[in-house]
Amino acid sequence: MPTRANDLLGRRLHDLRISVTDRCNFRCTYCMPKEVFGREFHFLPAVELLSFEEIARLVRIFIGLGVEKIRITGGEPLVRRDVDKLIAMLAPIEGLKDLTLTTNGSLLAAKAAALKAAGLQRLSVSLDSLDDAVFRAMNDVDFPVARVLDGIEAAQRIGLAPIKVNVVVKRGANEHTIVDLARRFRDTGIIVRFIEYMDVGTTNGWRLDDVVPATEIFTTIDAALPLEPLEPNYSGEVARRYRFRDGGGEIGIIASVTQPFCGDCTRARLSSDGQLFTCLFASKGHDLRALLRSGASDAEIGQAIGRVWVARDDRYSEIRTSLTKAPHKVEMSRIGG
Ligand code: SAM
Ligand code: SF4
Ligand code: SF4
Repeated sequence: MPTRANDLLGRRLHDLRISVTDRCNFRCTYCMPKEVFGREFHFLPAVELLSFEEIARLVRIFIGLGVEKIRITGGEPLVRRDVDKLIAMLAPIEGLKDLTLTTNGSLLAAKAAALKAAGLQRLSVSLDSLDDAVFRAMNDVDFPVARVLDGIEAAQRIGLAPIKVNVVVKRGANEHTIVDLARRFRDTGIIVRFIEYMDVGTTNGWRLDDVVPATEIFTTIDAALPLEPLEPNYSGEVARRYRFRDGGGEIGIIASVTQPFCGDCTRARLSSDGQLFTCLFASKGHDLRALLRSGASDAEIGQAIGRVWVARDDRYSEIRTSLTKAPHKVEMSRIGG
């Protein structure tokens, strides 16, 4: 059985991101543009989603293959009913060292306590601007920023820590508000991470001109709040870390476009309908749900996953500029960030 084997570029399998739904109550312009994900869009029916039992079984198998870190994502994971029950099933699994979740924060004020009680260890909240008008325009459903801030506060009060705040920086949309975000979360224990806008999927109309490069993000924040670099917490950390020179915490910058990190990419992704993807930019998944529902044993499923991993040679971000034809890529809302 090809357990714990590295992929073709020598990368081990260490992290798994699990999307629990393809639905979301936001329509962020860079992820689920309204024109595409409108009333007519066909989201997956419930029977197509992996059940919590199926997810937990796969998690045990993935841990046997070397996975130590799981992130629950979506779509918006908190719109999946009883997602805290899934957390409660996963948290005690032996060998799982880190269990976290990424959310848009809209339902967090109501759900933070249940998530914590279920055993969630920490949390990332996406929040693109503190400016209410900018935030409402980016989520495109007129959702007020105050309610996300309430959610973050509730999570902090309840002791879900550390909390990270993820900010996608898009040219002409929120770049003028990033210093406020860095300032607001200083001295709070919350780490803000600024992320370059990526060409995930095919529906967001991505253009290189819309990317605010990491160097520019750094210069903008450094000019207002002087920064100095910090060592990575661990090898392969995707965010570059910086600390405020006068104390008061740190920020991160994720340069997925301008400084790709495929060489250290140890992440697999599972869509809510049980497709395994080996890259955020993959065009095709591998159907684990069919295997699960065909009566395959854990060993057989583990072997199938191992075969997919050892054949993996993905490094899209490193080669995007040399591709003559854009591949048909899976949507971010299907496989999570
Ligand atoms: N709905 C949840 C949320 O927004 O946190 C979880 C799923 S969302 C797809 C995961 C992350 O992907 C979010 O932090 C989001 O900002 C990020 N994301 C989505 N589209 C992106 C893009 N085109 N470029 C960079 N990050 C993106
Ligand atoms: Fe929804 Fe998250 Fe995508 Fe925004 S980034 S549309 S919150 S899935
Ligand atoms: Fe990993 Fe693919 Fe992103 Fe490269 S492009 S870092 S291989 S997910």
